[in-house]
Amino acid sequence: MAIIQASCPRCDTDRDLRPDQVRLVVYDDTPDRSYYGFFCYVCGENVSEPANVEVIKLLVVGGVRPEYVNIPSEARERHSGPVLNEDDLIAFGLALKNADPVERAKSDPRSGEPQ
Ligand SMILES: [Zn+2]
Repeated sequence: MAIIQASCPRCDTDRDLRPDQVRLVVYDDTPDRSYYGFFCYVCGENVSEPANVEVIKLLVVGGVRPEYVNIPSEARERHSGPVLNEDDLIAFGLALKNADPVERAKSDPRSGEPQ
């Protein structure tokens, strides 16, 4: 079994880790978000560090099983304008209700009668 050597950036302790003690998260579409992590028993913290392509290759060769993350394209869209608030939702709901002839007929049964 391969041993992975890592240093804790918080307490500067060197650690020898088994592959199952290392978490590797790989973002397919945004590789700069990929990271690896492990638990440091000295400072009691979960450590995570960026993992570039070379680090990912080394960890995988060392036996670490990567967790692949695929972010839907909708989540990566850029949005502009004001944030939607409760009043906007109410206005939207009312607009939908007024736009639906079936709903309009339900609230005013005579609205469908010929004039
Ligand atoms: Zn530490």
